[in-house]
Amino acid sequence: MRRHRIHPSEFMDYAPDRQGEQVRINHEQCPAGEDTRRRMYVKRSDEELDTVVAYCHNCGGVGVSKCGTAAISSWRDRVLSSDLLRREQGGAQGSPRGSGWAEVSASAAQGAGPHDKGVEEVLLPRDAEFSRTCWPKEGRVFLSRYGLTEEYPGEVFYSSSRQRIGIVIYDCDGNRERVIYRRIFAGDTAPKYMQERSRSAGQRRTMSVGSDVLVLTEDWVSSKKINRSGYDAFPLLTTSLKPEDLVHLTDEYSRVIVWLDNDNPVVKKNRDTIVNNISLLVSNVYCVSDLSDPKNYSVTKLKEVINNVISDD
Ligand SMILES: [Zn+2]
Repeated sequence: MRRHRIHPSEFMDYAPDRQGEQVRINHEQCPAGEDTRRRMYVKRSDEELDTVVAYCHNCGGVGVSKCGTAAISSWRDRVLSSDLLRREQGGAQGSPRGSGWAEVSASAAQGAGPHDKGVEEVLLPRDAEFSRTCWPKEGRVFLSRYGLTEEYPGEVFYSSSRQRIGIVIYDCDGNRERVIYRRIFAGDTAPKYMQERSRSAGQRRTMSVGSDVLVLTEDWVSSKKINRSGYDAFPLLTTSLKPEDLVHLTDEYSRVIVWLDNDNPVVKKNRDTIVNNISLLVSNVYCVSDLSDPKNYSVTKLKEVINNVISDD
């Protein structure tokens, strides 16, 4: 069910100046009827100064403004808004690459994908090999170590020119939003993960198995493990959640679990921020705080933990 979108012009005049601060105002022209009890909450993000989130407890509507007082033109046109955002942010979000990567990233910038509607997909290397039986042992071990033994056509490949496993992440329209290249060989001294991203793809899609519970994880492997235990998952691929993703994800779910690795104080802090932000939009937010990433547990254990967490009300 898609929530009513509150346009930034309806709340940005009231947005507090300081990070983490929140005010309550009447939602003028609330579609659920006149609001005289200041039922709309407007909060400046804990994380990013230019982000303001609004939530109305009268109509259930949500709004996000990412650009201070310069309101985004229309929430209904998602692609347009995210293009606008990118232009306003100067589009300076390239990922670090070693010199060996320059050639492929140049070709990725030129080509538009088969779903072309102004969306440039990330290209796959020509030697992308999706059949696991053709991978080197190190590649197969990378997945089977976590109990992932099947093939993932279209999702996980090996590239011999890059000497890495590639994980393809899609947007909601099926465009390749990014490819994450994971180190597998001992002699590879470049960063463990390197990624190429499309600047024009839409919001990343959730990994759905038809559950009404969504689990947020850090990485793709953890999300796959969550899927295998019967729940929907979304890999953050970092430990923060963009406001656009936040609204989009919470449209579909009434129960959200945040499950990140517990071994790092920075991750813990980010996790608390994510939990706070989702709590604005979803009534049932849970946090798994004393375990490491889901990928490190058996499916049986994952089911048990998730069942315990959501029956803990
Ligand atoms: Zn309202």
